[in-house]
Parts: sequence; C-alpha cells; structure tokens
Amino acid sequence: MTNHTTAPTLTPPEYSTSFGEYVGIGPNGNLWVDGCDVAELADRYGTPLYVISENQLRHGYRAFRDAFRRHYPDVEILFANKSNNGLAIRHIFNQEGAGGDCFGAQEMYMALLAGTDPSTLVLNGSNKQDDELELAIANGLCINIDAMDELDRIDAIATRLGRTANLGIRLKLDLDPLHDRHGVAMHGPGTLKQQSDSTKWGMTREQTVEIVKRALAMPNMRLKETHFHLSRMSNDPADFAVMAREMITWSGHLRDHAGWTPPTIDIGGGWTFGKWYGTGPNGQLDDANAPTPEDYARLCCTAIKEEAERLGLPLPKLRLEPGRSLSGPAGIAVGRVGAVKDGAKKWVNLDLSTNHLSWAAVLDWYYHAVPVRDAGAEATETVDLVGPLCNSDELGPHRKMPPLERGDLVAFLDAGGYTESSAARYNAQLLPATVLVTGSAHALITEREQLKDVAGRFRVPPHLLAASFARDEAA
Ligand SMILES: *Cc1c(COP(=O)(O)O)cnc(C)c1O
Repeated sequence: MTNHTTAPTLTPPEYSTSFGEYVGIGPNGNLWVDGCDVAELADRYGTPLYVISENQLRHGYRAFRDAFRRHYPDVEILFANKSNNGLAIRHIFNQEGAGGDCFGAQEMYMALLAGTDPSTLVLNGSNKQDDELELAIANGLCINIDAMDELDRIDAIATRLGRTANLGIRLKLDLDPLHDRHGVAMHGPGTLKQQSDSTKWGMTREQTVEIVKRALAMPNMRLKETHFHLSRMSNDPADFAVMAREMITWSGHLRDHAGWTPPTIDIGGGWTFGKWYGTGPNGQLDDANAPTPEDYARLCCTAIKEEAERLGLPLPKLRLEPGRSLSGPAGIAVGRVGAVKDGAKKWVNLDLSTNHLSWAAVLDWYYHAVPVRDAGAEATETVDLVGPLCNSDELGPHRKMPPLERGDLVAFLDAGGYTESSAARYNAQLLPATVLVTGSAHALITEREQLKDVAGRFRVPPHLLAASFARDEAA
C-alpha cells in the first residue's frame, strides 16, 4: 500500500561532470553512480552489468509528480512496468506512491508480488487471455478494453467470480492536427497520425459508444476511464497536448452519445528526456534545451482544462504512464573491453551486446558512451563500439573515445529502461546481472544467468536420442 513515509529526502552528490543528478564523474575521476565507483562495481559483480540508481528513480518520479501537481488538481502517475520489470524497482515506486501499467499476466503478477496497490494498476493488452483477465478482476485492477468481444469475456469471468470489474477503454484518437508531425521513427515510418492510425491499438468512436452503452447495462461492470498511448519518441509537448485535448473531446462525445462522462482519463506514456551531451532518446534533437516534464505538464494540463471548459465537462482525474523517461536516466550498462582491432576503422569489442541494449540495434546513436576509468579523459580516437554477437552488433559507431585497451570499461548512459526487460539470449549468451546503488551502498537485484538457465530448457525427444545412441540389437 502507498506509504509516503518510507520515501527518503534526496540530496544529490556533487560531481565534476554530471550526466544526471545521480550519475557523473566522481572524486577519483571515474564514472560514479550516486556514491559508488562504477569500476569497483564492475570488478565486484562482473560484466556485462546493468547499474540502477535508486535515488535517480525517485528523483525522476518526483520531478514528474511535482510538475503535474503544479498544473492539475488530481493526478496519478503509473510507472510503465514493462520498461523495467525488476521487483526492487517496483518496490521503490510503491514507496513513492506510484501506480503501474501492466501488460500480460506475468507483469501483473510481479507488480502484485511487489505489493503494488491494485487500485493503482491498469492492465493493457490487445489480446488478453482468460487467466490474465481473471487475475485482473480478482485483484480489482482496471482493465483497458481493446477488442469488441472483451467486454463479454470480462463479464463472464466477473460473474463466475462474483466480482465487479473495473474497466477503461483504449481509444483510437483521430489526431488530425498531427498529420504532419514526426517523432523518431522507432516503430516504422510515417507522421504521428499515420503511426497512430496504423497500429493495432484503440477502439473507434462508434465502438467506444457501443462498449459504454453495453457496459452501463451490465451490473458487474464499473466504467472507470478512457486511455490512450502512442509510443513515438516525440518530446514536443505540443504534440502531447493535442492528444490530451482530444481525450476530452472524446469524453464530450461519450457524454452526448452514450450518457457517460469518463471520471478519469489516462494519457499514457511516450515522453522522453533530453541531456546536455546531445543524445538521449532523440539523438541530435535532445540537448540541454530539450523540453522538461514541467513543459509537458503545463501544456497537457492547459489543453485538458481548456477543452473541458469549452464542453462544459467536469475536470477528470488525470493519469499518465511514463516508462522510459523515469527508468531510462536511472540506469547505465557497463561492458568490458576485449579485442581491439585496427583496419578500415577501429573496432573496440565489448562483452556487452545488442542483446543487452536492444534499441542500439535500431537506433545506433541512441546511447551516449563514456569510459568508466578516467571518465573525463580527452577523446582522441573515433571507434566503433561493438559487441561479441555474430551480426555487426554495433552498440555505438563513430564514437569519440580516449584510447581503450583490453580490460578497460565502457558505460552506456540512460540505459535503465527497455534494456533488461527486453534483453535477448541470441548466440546463447547469458543475461547480465543488475546491481542497485543507493548512496554508497549496492546490492544485487537481478542474478546473472548461468549456463543451466540457457541449456536447461532444451530437450531431446526419445526418437532422436535413440537414433544417436541406442545400440542396434539385430546387428
Ligand atoms: C509502453 C507503454 C507506456 C510507456 O511508454 P514510454 O515510452 O516508456 O513512456 C505507457 N503506456 C502504455 C500502454 C504502453 O504500452
């Protein structure tokens, strides 16, 4: 349950160079996360290694919360659990009072296992399974409907359990004002409107009217919210304000055509972050001047209030579901240098790979890389930072680095989101460990995989074993 008294006061350390409030160059010239030297962590826990800062997570959440509280009377922040599923991470967000967005039975199970208040959890998904719906209904989560037959399926399960189900509806917003607006093409080409139109997500106006009318007639169904999320990596707050405004326009439509006004709107996630070193999720676009959560909150909340006033609607409770913007800046990924090879260019091989930084395979400018020892050393070489996999495994092409040799360490910044949670085992690689740093303390929060984890799931059926090993008695 929400327990704000366990959330500590935050005092960021002072660094000679800061990459975030809790990541920077520490007193010995190495890269530090909060009060820990990353070189010492790598020596102790091994590489490849993810390092997460507890205090950076808390700091990022509070910046978001406070920005929205300044501009809106009733707001609830739901961490997108999929961006980092660690149980320790979930505990931290619980202590901060954050809710969560879950996809699938396992994410829901883990959020519940970590003790998250179910009334602050939503279940999203385009093809929810019966066991998943049952877990959500039994625990009182809000289920965001995203298929026409979902309502009947939920009703049947709720009736069987003797429970009331909490419902939202995921919308397919029109987004006409975004017909010429672009984000980063992480999910294929097209403008923001084209991307939204072409994804599987969301119900049309007519469909939502029908769902609302039918749900209102079902005694076990409690309608709670409308929902929208577009993963787009635009951090122009005006784009988000268009989406927020249209949520309210849609509320007016539902009031007029279905007799129900959503008491809550959930505007999803998708907000990014900018860093002075010019990478972060928008590459060349994001720098020290990138818009802040304050800009995001101000424009969205203004749009919501204006549209609600225009339509004579009460202000709904506002929910949002930031993922990457909270988890990303709180983590780094660390690899150790192996073979260094000169040729047409210089390749620096690391034990970290695109298995562990999957977005680097799509957007090779994505992560900013820094040496761990002597992190401020002059960058005199241009190298390709590569992993050990059988493909090109480019983690960072054309990176300016000081001379690196076998045994050195390289860290990729802003790697706390969509790294561990989307890590792969390609080439039968073992998944890395994760260590949580809190001040000068550190603790393992994800065990490193072992050979048994990779090899142990495979089976050889009897006929193949027999063909390989059984003696032919007749011979
Ligand atoms: C992925 C997702 C989020 C979080 O997106 P970010 O880009 O990480 O902020 C929020 N809500 C839903 C429904 C999502 O699918």
